[in-house]
Amino acid sequence: MPYTMVSFHAHPDDEALLTAGTLARAAAEGHRVVLVVATAGGAGLASSEVLAEGPLARRRLAELHRSAEALGCARVECLGYGDSGMADAPSGAADAFAGTDPEEAARRLAELLRQEQADVLTIYDPAGGYGHPDHVRVHQVGTRAAELAGTAVVLEATVDRRLLQRVLRAVHWLPGVPADFHPARFAGAFAAPERLTHRVDVRAYAGAKRAAMAAHASQAGADTGRRTLAVLLKLPRPLFRVLMGREWFVQHGRAPGRPLIDDVFAGLP
Ligand SMILES: [Zn+2]
Repeated sequence: MPYTMVSFHAHPDDEALLTAGTLARAAAEGHRVVLVVATAGGAGLASSEVLAEGPLARRRLAELHRSAEALGCARVECLGYGDSGMADAPSGAADAFAGTDPEEAARRLAELLRQEQADVLTIYDPAGGYGHPDHVRVHQVGTRAAELAGTAVVLEATVDRRLLQRVLRAVHWLPGVPADFHPARFAGAFAAPERLTHRVDVRAYAGAKRAAMAAHASQAGADTGRRTLAVLLKLPRPLFRVLMGREWFVQHGRAPGRPLIDDVFAGLP
């Protein structure tokens, strides 16, 4: 039976890193996939060439649509809040998502969930992954919106923290890997393996995931340093498939257990 999944994100490109394989797999299996971003990502890092071409937010929304197309999404919506920027470099935007009334944002998302009769909503873990204020707010607003709309399945898109630590310890000293990929920086990021409920095998959709990541070209070429996207896109394809071929979730109200569930629609009638 076809279901509807709404995937809620903070900025264009977040969908590509955390959920792209799951979205591509759901769409390929015949489900309706709707992508929602809170902000157009106007405070993202970008090269001076990209910034000279016009407003970054407009460019990033166009990239989001290309990514959604690569993944087979049926609809893309932007709630239109301002990008708050990082905690140590706030954008100062008056309408910054992290500073707006979460109840109002939740009502708007709930309206969309009702309209779509969504069966599944993906949000982020309470840590907001690595702690971006807009990502933390996605957790809060998404949780509340699902309550208001009565959405059956709420999944926190996350990463197995222990695995991430292992990968970072192995690669952080390699040439070309940015200094901020240090394991210590991510010690409390994402989710402990004991909390996980789902590990979705998306190796067959690694090509679509890579295309979604590549669609966000403005985020792969900042003037200073190399962004996560750029680093991952440089991986040889077989290694990319191994590293990016699984996506992790924590389902609200479901006790963690082994084996981890491979299907985000499991348990739906
Ligand atoms: Zn983000």
